[in-house]
Amino acid sequence: MSASFIDSELQKIKDAGLYRRLRRVDGDQDATLKLDGREVINLSSNNYLGIANHTALAAAAKAAIDRYGCGSGASRLISGNMALHEELEAKLAEFKGTAAALVFNSGFQANTGILSTLAGDGDVIFSDALNHASIIDGCRLSRAKTQVYRHCDLDHLKLQLKDAPSSARKLIVTETIFSMDGDEAPLDGIVELAERFDAMVMVDEAHATGIFGANGAGVVAKLGLSQRVAIQMGTLGKALGGFGAYVAGSRALRDLLINRCRSFIFTTSLPPAVMAMALAAIDLVKKEPERREALSANCRILKNGLIQLGFELGASESPILPLIIGESAKCMKFSEQLLANGVFAQGIRPPTVPPGTSRLRITLMATHTAGQIERALKVFEELKAQA
Ligand code: PLP
Repeated sequence: MSASFIDSELQKIKDAGLYRRLRRVDGDQDATLKLDGREVINLSSNNYLGIANHTALAAAAKAAIDRYGCGSGASRLISGNMALHEELEAKLAEFKGTAAALVFNSGFQANTGILSTLAGDGDVIFSDALNHASIIDGCRLSRAKTQVYRHCDLDHLKLQLKDAPSSARKLIVTETIFSMDGDEAPLDGIVELAERFDAMVMVDEAHATGIFGANGAGVVAKLGLSQRVAIQMGTLGKALGGFGAYVAGSRALRDLLINRCRSFIFTTSLPPAVMAMALAAIDLVKKEPERREALSANCRILKNGLIQLGFELGASESPILPLIIGESAKCMKFSEQLLANGVFAQGIRPPTVPPGTSRLRITLMATHTAGQIERALKVFEELKAQA
C-alpha cells in the first residue's frame, strides 16, 4: 500500500466536512485562554474547578521533582512503583469510600484495560449508547458480547438483562455524567437491576469526580452507592486539574488488575510530579467546597441566559451544556463565529456524537467571572440576531 492512501483518507475526511485541526494554547489553562494567538473566553475546558494552574498543585509537583526526580523509570510491576503511587491510591480509596484504588496512566487506558480484564469470551457487557469511545473500545477489546442499551433507558437495559444467558458473567457499564450531553445516568435504577440480575456495575466518573457529592467524590458518593458499585473509574485530568486516572473498588479488584490488566502492566508508570499534583488536588477539592458552589452558580447563570435567548440545552444538570445545532457544517460555522467574537465553544461532530446531533459543547469553570459570562451571553445574543 503506497503512502498516497494517507492523502486520500484525509481527503475523504475533508469531503465529509469532518476535518479536525489542532488549536494552539499559549499560556496557562484558565477561564480565558490565549488560543491561536488571541485572548478568548474559554467555554471548552474540563478544568471545571479551575485548579489546573493552582499554586498548590504546582508547588506539590515541584517538591516531588526535588525529592523523587522526574521520571518513574519503569512500569509499576518492575521498579516504577514509587511511594507516591501508593500514597495516592490510599487517598483515592478514602475519597471514594472503597477498600482500595489503583492508578492508571489515563482514563482511556483505564477503560480499555479494566473492561478487557473483567469480561471475556462468553460474557455480556451492557453499555449505554452514549458511552465514551474508551468504553466502546474496551468492550471490543474484551471479546465479550456487547449489548448497547438506549441512552439511560432502564426498561431497555432490563429487557437485555432478561435475555442474557444465565451462565454468562454480566457487566453493566455507564458514565455517571455523560461527557457530551452532561446528563446523569439513572444509577439507582441501574444498581437495582444489576442486583436483581446478578450483574457487576462499572461507572466512569470522568466528568463527575471533583464536582458531585458532599466532598466532590462523584455521583456514586452523592447517591450513597459506594458499597453497591463494584468498579468506580474516574480521571485525574479534568476537575482534578492534573493527569491520569484511577479505579476504586475492592482489594481483590485491585489485585486482579495488577495481575491481568494489560494497559496497567505494560506501560511506564506515571511520574512522581503527576501523583503529587493529584494528592494536592484531592485536598483542595475537599477543603474548598466554594469552588463547587461557584461552578454551580456559573452554570445556572449561563444556562438560564442561553435558554432565555431561545437556545435548546437538553437535560444537562452538570457543567457540560450541549447546545444542539444538528448539522455539522452549521455547528462548526457557529463555533467559528463565536471564536471570531472572542468566545471559544468547541463544535463537536460525529463520530464523537451521533450523526445529526452536532453541537457546541459548552463547559463552565468555577473561575469564570460574572463579567465573562455576561460577555459570552452578549455574543450569543448578537449571533442569534444575525442568524
Ligand atoms: N471517560 C470519559 C467519559 C471521558 O470523557 C474521557 C475523556 O477524555 C475519558 C474517559 C478518557 O480520560 P483521559 O482523558 O484521562 O484519557
